Amino acid sequence: MADAQVIVSGVKKSFEDNLVLRDVSLSLQSGDVVAILGPSGSGKSTFLRCLDYLERADAGTLQLGNDVYDLHDASNKQILEVRRRTGFVFQNYNLFINKTALKNVMEPLVCAHRVPKEDAERIAKEALDKVGLSDRYDYYPSQLSGGQQQRVSIARAIAVKPEVIFFDEPTSALDPELIGEVLSVMKNLANQGITMIVVTHEMRFARNVATHVVFMEGGVIVEEGSPEQIFEHPQQSRTRQFLQQIA
Ligand code: ADP
Ligand code: MG
Repeated sequence: MADAQVIVSGVKKSFEDNLVLRDVSLSLQSGDVVAILGPSGSGKSTFLRCLDYLERADAGTLQLGNDVYDLHDASNKQILEVRRRTGFVFQNYNLFINKTALKNVMEPLVCAHRVPKEDAERIAKEALDKVGLSDRYDYYPSQLSGGQQQRVSIARAIAVKPEVIFFDEPTSALDPELIGEVLSVMKNLANQGITMIVVTHEMRFARNVATHVVFMEGGVIVEEGSPEQIFEHPQQSRTRQFLQQIA
């Protein structure tokens, strides 16, 4: 535990009287890829969103390196700091439609990280090259396929060199033939040792790329372990049921 790089502890969240996260904790070493699986409505998105203060948790902490952030009670400065140190990739890309791919990737570098324009442009181009879009710098989102837009959004996340990237169902909005290109980019990131938490329904990714698999239901982690433990030897009947349903 002592050398874990990302430690999430005791996250709780209700919407009105709907208790969505009961007490979720998770610990990652540098380079870990955690896949979070679970049925719809189990709190997966809410969990990730709480870690980036997109939702305000009722309780819980996020530790990045030696710094501990209170997920319930934080100053604007701390919130910006967490967002600078993390990346978020959404199901629906969340790109600026009036900016080119290059400008989308430059935006957080220039605005949040205060990187000078010329440096930002160079870093953004490198990030776009990494996701296979070296020929699309000047394209607007509407001129790109869903898979390409999602790769721009991944480039935007990696460009700032975050300590961990959160992915919320990054391939769920894509046509089936476009899923592979996005998963392959994510696999490359994993191989480069980028620390990630990925909410996904892609079982092949969870099985083959993740270092750790978490099964969540009803706002709790029901079971977690290596891909082999979860897929080959699930201990909990709820995990087995879930895996049978989606198989
Ligand atoms: P998952 O991502 O696992 O499908 P979510 O985290 O999106 O689950 O949702 C968990 C529960 O929280 C659901 O019952 C959902 O309706 C509720 N919920 C999520 N976001 C909000 C919100 N902004 N306001 C009220 N209820 C919400
Ligand atoms: Mg969700």
